[in-house]
This record gives sequence, C-alpha cells and structure tokens, in this order.
Amino acid sequence: MKILKVVETPVKLEGNISNALVNFSSHTVSALAIITDQVRHGKPVIGLAFNSIGRFDQSGIIRSRMIPRLMQATPDSLLDSTGQRFSPENVLSCILKNEKPGGHGDRAQAASAIELAIWEINARLDDEPVSQTIAKYFDRGAREESVAVYAAGGYYYDGENDSALRNEIARYQDAGFTKFKMKIGGADLKRDMQRIEAAIEVAGSGQNLAVDANGRFSLNDALAYASAMQKYKLWWFEEAGDPLDFELNAALSKGYSGALATGENLFSHQDVKNLVLFGGARPDRDIFQMDPGLSYGVSEYVKMIDELETRGFDRRFAYPHGGQLMGLHVVSGLGLGGCETYPNIFQPMGGFGDDMEINEGRVSMPSNPGFGFESKSNLIHEFVKLLS
Ligand SMILES: [Mg+2]
Repeated sequence: MKILKVVETPVKLEGNISNALVNFSSHTVSALAIITDQVRHGKPVIGLAFNSIGRFDQSGIIRSRMIPRLMQATPDSLLDSTGQRFSPENVLSCILKNEKPGGHGDRAQAASAIELAIWEINARLDDEPVSQTIAKYFDRGAREESVAVYAAGGYYYDGENDSALRNEIARYQDAGFTKFKMKIGGADLKRDMQRIEAAIEVAGSGQNLAVDANGRFSLNDALAYASAMQKYKLWWFEEAGDPLDFELNAALSKGYSGALATGENLFSHQDVKNLVLFGGARPDRDIFQMDPGLSYGVSEYVKMIDELETRGFDRRFAYPHGGQLMGLHVVSGLGLGGCETYPNIFQPMGGFGDDMEINEGRVSMPSNPGFGFESKSNLIHEFVKLLS
C-alpha cells in the first residue's frame, strides 16, 4: 500500500467580515488530496482534508517541505504494524523530518492538512466515517452519534446595528441552535455592552451566549471587560489577551468568576501544558479550544487532551475551534464537549453537510465514509477541481 501523489491548492474563503483584529476578506485555506494505490467500490482511495479555517493556506510549506518528504519515504515506513493501514504518527514524523522542536504556527497547520487526510484514507479503507475510525483507534469503542454545536458569528459587519445582530441570532435559533458566540473588542466597552445586551435579549440568557475578543486585550482592558460582563453570567469569555500570555490569563482567571476559553492558537501539547500549569486554567469551568486542523492533526490533539486529563481536567470542556466537518468528526470520535460552526460564513470550508440539520443545539453524525465531504456540495466541488 502506498501513496501515489499528493496535490494541494489554496482556496479563497467567501465573506467580507472582520473580528476584533482580523479582516477575513483575503483569507485562504489549503485544500489537499492524498491519492493512494488502493481501490474501494471500484474507485481509488483518496484522502481529502484542509487546514481548518482562519489562518491562511500553507501551500509553501506543504509543497516545498512536506510533500517531498512524504514521497521520498519508504512506503512501508508510513504504515502501521499491520501493514494494512497508514500510521498517522509515522506520517507526521515523516513530514516533520529535520524540523527542530518548537517553532509551531504555520508548520503545524500545514502538517494538519496532511495528517487529517491520512485519517480520511484509513476511514475509507474501512468504509466508515472518520469519527468511528478515531473512536476505535483511541480505544473509545464507538463514536458519539450526536454532537452539541453552537453558532458562532456576531461579527462587526459594515453598517451593523443591533437589529442586525438580533436578527442574526434569531436566524440561528430558527436553524435549531440554542447557544451562540459573538465578537467583542472591535468597538469600545460601552458599545460592546449594548451589543451583548441586545444579543442576550434574543438568546434568552447569558448562559446561551459566549463572547470572543480574539486575543486583542491588554490585561487592563480584559479586566475592565470582565468586570462589566460579570453580571451577564456569560457561557464563556474567549481569548481575552494574547494566546501565549499565560500570566494575563492567570490574572484574569483571578478577576473573573465566569468561564474563560482559549487554546485555538496553541499548536502543541507543550503549549497546552503551559496553559494548564501557568495560565490559571480552572478544571470546573474553563473551556479549551485547540483545533486539530491547526495543530498537527489528531495525533497531536490527543496528546493535548492527555495533558489536560492527567492534570485533572475533563475532555467535555474541549470545544475545538474551526466549525467544519473534520472538527465535528474529532469531537464525536473522542467524546469532547462540542463543536462550533459558522452558519453561512467561511464558505466553502465552513459548516457541515448540506442535509445535516441542527436540532435543539445538536447535530446527528453523518454515516457516509470519511469526513463526508461529498455531502457538502460547494466543498466537494473544490476538491473535484483540485483532482481534475
Ligand atoms: Mg475564537
């Protein structure tokens, strides 16, 4: 069994939206396909994946460093001990050959696309969804058949007023969501509190609303927002300060009794260990948002979960960033807390299959093999273009 070819292309994300710090109008994602010599149902077994959402394509690293290493490897060195399936760990160490420890970031995202495509190949070889493959691989027995999801959005659209924000949350409710997330930090504190209050009016309670500052606040700003928001009893306060400023996070956790969320910009299990040891994380409330699509894939993500669980934290507090099909399968396969999604934003990568409905804040897992990209018409269209 061997890899015949790997192809990658940058795909532009639709949407002209911005959070507190980043405008997404020029954002791209790397779509990637690994073609094997295996055949199922009369078709070649191909693994498809992409490097999550929100951090740009990684064409350079993937094409100049990782694909050559993969193609130069002895085919058997990429397989597991049975020789019948690819080993995600062996593939990851192959594509990171001669790279020094540390220095995560873009490299972690590039590696994710390849590692996730390997999971898709293994799932297709077994004719099952990736979530089931992951559950078996990590001895969890079976995947979870339904996953809690929440609607993320609440950006600063041009010309937004509070009626637009209220309408947006009402649309998510009509679509079956019960919990929501909005951006803060792109306006002044007073204005943001008005926006939060408008959102809570529709959401029904602060416990149905999380807010995300995208890492923009100084400690003083974060504490000022924390103090102003305390009374709302929000679901969580996300990425208040720089994701690697563990001192800030620790100080904020002392000054805010509600849940803090962070981790989408931590790309290794060592980063997660530091968050837990030095970032003031509290096992009874705080939320962890590491994204297997940004951080070397599922094998590294599982080490992150181990860092949490060996220190008294529970995987039910893990809600991966991203809002796409790959993350949904990881949540189901590993039994995590839930998954975000951005309804109608970040297309064609964002969201789930065309026919996957949200009911009372949960989604039923699809039964098609692999990640089920075939069920998402605008996304499979990009992969078909890539393969033609
Ligand atoms: Mg975020």
